[in-house]
Amino acid sequence: MSAAGYNDRRIDAGQIEAHHLATLWDWYTKQPGNREEAARQFQAAAGLDVDGMIGPMTIGALDAPELPGPPENELGLAGPFYLPIRGGCWWSGNAFDPRPRSQGGHHGRDGFSGPKTDLGWPDTTDAMVISFAAGEVIAVKWHANGLWIKIDHGHGLITKSGHLNGTGHVKPGQVIAAGVDLAPVWGGLTLPHIHFETWINGKPVDSGKLLERLGAVPLS
Ligand SMILES: [Zn+2]
Repeated sequence: MSAAGYNDRRIDAGQIEAHHLATLWDWYTKQPGNREEAARQFQAAAGLDVDGMIGPMTIGALDAPELPGPPENELGLAGPFYLPIRGGCWWSGNAFDPRPRSQGGHHGRDGFSGPKTDLGWPDTTDAMVISFAAGEVIAVKWHANGLWIKIDHGHGLITKSGHLNGTGHVKPGQVIAAGVDLAPVWGGLTLPHIHFETWINGKPVDSGKLLERLGAVPLS
């Protein structure tokens, strides 16, 4: 990341010209979002600090003769990509392990939201879990450890979000954008958390690392 960041906060909103905003929206046409999110996605693609503020560095990049294209990624998926819990998500030390579950495998990562402190694990009960990318909901099912929602994102990628509550805000067959509410985290576990799996072409991959590679950002 290059240095932009805090300088961007000092610009007068009046200095943002209409054509910069139009360029930003032209570039960012795929998802319903807000101006700050459009700026974040653009900044990430332009290699700037990602703060969502349209300041001198961002305007300079929008004025560049060659605009950066939308983010490329290993799966050919269109962004944006979000961390799977509103307000952000960080992962517990429980490692990803691709072995079969009967052999002690763990096909997801366990995520929490809220402030990470020295006092222990934050309570993630009722934190809203969202779709990390656009896709089609293919299953919404209860198991003994909570509700599971499975989404097909195309390009061979399927995600499974587990330990959720309620019946979900979405139904099988529903096509959804990134950042859509799925269901809150279930409190019926010793340490309430989301269990988040990513499968590529039928094989589990480390979801924490995949989200990092795709540049997933927090959504408030
Ligand atoms: Zn887990």
